[in-house]
Amino acid sequence: MAKHQFQTEIGQLLQLMTHSLYSNKEIFLRELISNASDAIDKFNYLRLTDENFKENEWSGKIFVKLDKEDNSLTIGDNGIGMNEEDLMNHLGTIAKSGTKAFMESLTGDAKKDSNLIGQFGVGFYSVFMVSDKVDVISKKAGEEQAYMFSTDGKGEYETKPVTKESHGTIIYIKLKEDEKEFLDKWRTEGVIKKYSNHIAYPIMLNYDTEETEGEGEDAVTKKVQKSEQANAATALWTLSKSELKKEDYIEFYKTLNHGDAEPLTYLHNKVEGANEFTTLFYIPKKAPMDMYRADYQPGVKLYVKRVFITDDEKELLPPYLRFVRGIIDSEDLPLNVSRELLQENRVMANIKQSSVKKILQSIKKLEGEDAEIFAKEYNRVIKEGIFTDYTNKELLLDIVRYKSSNEEGLVSFDDYIRRGNSEKKEIYYIIGENEKVLRSSPLLEAYKKADIEVLILDDKEVDEIVTPMIGQYKEWTLKDITTIDAPDSKSEEEKEEISKAFKVLTDKIKEVLGDEVKEVKISTRLTSSPSCVLKDSSDPMASMAHMFVQMGQ
Ligand code: ADP
Ligand code: MG
Repeated sequence: MAKHQFQTEIGQLLQLMTHSLYSNKEIFLRELISNASDAIDKFNYLRLTDENFKENEWSGKIFVKLDKEDNSLTIGDNGIGMNEEDLMNHLGTIAKSGTKAFMESLTGDAKKDSNLIGQFGVGFYSVFMVSDKVDVISKKAGEEQAYMFSTDGKGEYETKPVTKESHGTIIYIKLKEDEKEFLDKWRTEGVIKKYSNHIAYPIMLNYDTEETEGEGEDAVTKKVQKSEQANAATALWTLSKSELKKEDYIEFYKTLNHGDAEPLTYLHNKVEGANEFTTLFYIPKKAPMDMYRADYQPGVKLYVKRVFITDDEKELLPPYLRFVRGIIDSEDLPLNVSRELLQENRVMANIKQSSVKKILQSIKKLEGEDAEIFAKEYNRVIKEGIFTDYTNKELLLDIVRYKSSNEEGLVSFDDYIRRGNSEKKEIYYIIGENEKVLRSSPLLEAYKKADIEVLILDDKEVDEIVTPMIGQYKEWTLKDITTIDAPDSKSEEEKEEISKAFKVLTDKIKEVLGDEVKEVKISTRLTSSPSCVLKDSSDPMASMAHMFVQMGQ
């Protein structure tokens, strides 16, 4: 038997789980079932791709056993299992970026923090919300020795060799005195249906009940053990659209996303023909917490013929769509497709291309409040898309939104050109850091006077790089108003004359300001303000470097 210390961060996490995060304890079941399902996915994959693991009779199963006498709940699976090293590395240390990001996001406010558990899927440790004694008994597929990992969740854990017949994991949870509700069959079944209905493997709920035989004086009450399947156990995306209701999609999203939030929209497509595949994508209502972290967790899982392949491949969709959640299931990829192969694979490239189009088209269709939510959460990554995805530039330009001198909300290029001067076909914009400053810019005065709309681009670092790349939208040319003459400005000769007339003054100002400015000029761009400062238009490179560091590229 060996005693070990938990890594310090885990110690903190456990403290939190046991002492402050109470609001939604039932999610421990969701997390443990999700782990069991992952472990079965992994074994299933091995079985189909590696001769050494061929097990013909095997089929993935999860069980949940309720024991009222012992006051315990046990969750088991016949998945890949863990050896001693795995137990220590996966349950005794924080390795996953999700857990790290979770720890960094904690606010100390118990209510806020308990919502974070759901968002990050902190997983295994959530069991300490309902228990202070947990034994994990596990045997790794292909190995002889099984091990037990035991802890009271207080900073230390033990490992020791034990016997277990077949591969897989059993988690024995001694429930805290006031968590007995989870021994109630109806309660637990409800939680399983709520979060894990579409886990692809059957979840068998085992419980004791009393049955009475005979009548009157002869009646005998016996304890009987029951076993019932608690979930639907279908891979939802394999069902046809006509069989599925909106609620089914939302429920599946919750399973996928480890949370209670509903998606902004979803799209489910079966593609047939030379290349067959099914996709089910969701756009979350809130951007993932790690969207601007270089080590963000990708949100799309790859399956081949219903067999789970990976959830850790960032290239299934282009990086700017890293907020999309969902599933790609291909009929044509080989099961043992490697990461390298995936990146050069024509089948995969085809799936990716078609997926991006479909996702962008469905975003384009969003209306009203949904479109507003989308713009609020994702406008910035859409701009990143404009910069990086030339093939889909048109669609992306239909989606992107900007602030405008015309109204309070966000407008699209289409809104703009509908109102704009269709003879001149020019889209005017101004870029800066601060919306307020931009709206009161002296440069806008002439446009306001002439009743010409100007787009207000206040995400300077990004806009400065991306907007010049756009160039045109549907034959309309984009113009930065700091680089062109105001709408009602004078002719070249007139300007020349005015400049000459004021040369003494401008020379004097330049003399006073010295190196603070490059040049002092007479401008015809202003109406009521006497002067304004312009930046040299040739220095966006510095901010470009900055932006890519920030976007983790
Ligand atoms: P996550 O599932 O996000 O990785 P968890 O805290 O839920 O985080 O689980 C940590 C790790 O422990 C898993 O990634 C997996 O490697 C291992 N693990 C947990 N439960 C099981 C299980 N039932 N069978 C095999 N491995 C497991
Ligand atoms: Mg997990």
